[in-house]
Amino acid sequence: MRDLFGAELRWFQHIEETAHRVFRRHGYGEIRTPILEELDVFKRSVGESSDIVNKEMYQFTDKGGREVVMRPENTAGVVRAAIQHKLLASNDPALFYYIGPQFRYERMQSGRYRQFWQIGAESFGVATPESEAESLLMLHSFLTDLGLKSLVFSINSVGTPESRPAFHAAFRAFFADRSEQFCEDCHRRLQSNPLRVLDCKNENCQKALTGHPVLTDHLDEASARHHARLKVLLTELALPFEENPRLVRGLDYYTRTAFEVLSSDLGAQSALLGGGRYDGLIKQMGGPEVPGFGWAIGLDRLAMVLQQVQGEAPQQAPAMLIPLGERAATEALKLARRLWDAGAALQLETRGGALKKAMASANRNGIQTVLILGDGELDGGTITVKHMATGEQESWPLGEVAARLAAIRLGLRDLPS
Ligand code: AMP
Repeated sequence: MRDLFGAELRWFQHIEETAHRVFRRHGYGEIRTPILEELDVFKRSVGESSDIVNKEMYQFTDKGGREVVMRPENTAGVVRAAIQHKLLASNDPALFYYIGPQFRYERMQSGRYRQFWQIGAESFGVATPESEAESLLMLHSFLTDLGLKSLVFSINSVGTPESRPAFHAAFRAFFADRSEQFCEDCHRRLQSNPLRVLDCKNENCQKALTGHPVLTDHLDEASARHHARLKVLLTELALPFEENPRLVRGLDYYTRTAFEVLSSDLGAQSALLGGGRYDGLIKQMGGPEVPGFGWAIGLDRLAMVLQQVQGEAPQQAPAMLIPLGERAATEALKLARRLWDAGAALQLETRGGALKKAMASANRNGIQTVLILGDGELDGGTITVKHMATGEQESWPLGEVAARLAAIRLGLRDLPS
């Protein structure tokens, strides 16, 4: 678990602001659920065969003797809340998004944290491929607004609980023929949830899977039609996609569409996020029979990708006002107030003291424009401006500072100010 501050947190804020803007545009409403949920919420949703529930949960007994868990993901909590507050009607869409910290007792490895952040969207009440296309379009706008370019949807259909036994039978026969090549975990997975074998990270298991039976060959007719229609829609919308017969996602509750978004913005193509349809989940958790589709993206990873692709997030306040002497300090407070009220982003040096010290601190903090106000400037009704990148210096009339600052900020990326 780590502290967030500085450039990394500025990327987080930028991502969160983009999410709020894009998701609201699609009619999704934010929902915030508690970090602690009862253990049962995850047992009944994520599933006891999943690694998350098996190995990774921060779980404890509270002072009232309840078994509680620090949420490892947010879909289960959102579904729990939607049921509890009767936000679900069977044929009425209910669209939610969330942004918040999640907790998993992960093994230490780079980019995986025990407290990490997710942004996700859930669309309840509609079972059509069109609702999936809508959600994927929203996701695509979100990622492209953030500046990511080479995005590909990787999709599969995991069918329905009714159609899956046909696949299971074919897969068990395939597994039996080469069972010694699979790891111990896969033997266990074959019993609890055979789909999980497709998802095994072990290289030998991935090799042993060569030529495995494919889920989409064993779909019921309605799931096959659904899958075909989604592909038509993605093609019509020019959303690049590819089929991945091993994509099953790590959770037990997916039905029909499962997907990931691949990006090669960081060189080798890798998955940025995933999600899918979970038509049985809400009923399984004690709610009405309402379908759902959703996805979640790791904010930590996304911030890292953006930082690497686009460089450091610029300073929130790229300008600094440095007064010299008491008279200038008073006038600087008044000037800064006018500039802030006009929307300028600016840090005010309030320590007093030597210009050299203030300039050094401006340098350290990546300030781009320094405004210097001394007695000479005050008498002349001007301010001295130093552009840190070039070292160039000029004089601005005091009355034009707001407009001129606004003008140089136009060249900056539109980051949180
Ligand atoms: P999952 O819920 O496992 O499907 O993961 C969804 C998103 O959360 C992915 O984009 C992951 O990058 C991110 N994620 C999952 N676990 C962690 C973790 N321990 N640290 C950082 N990000 C994570």
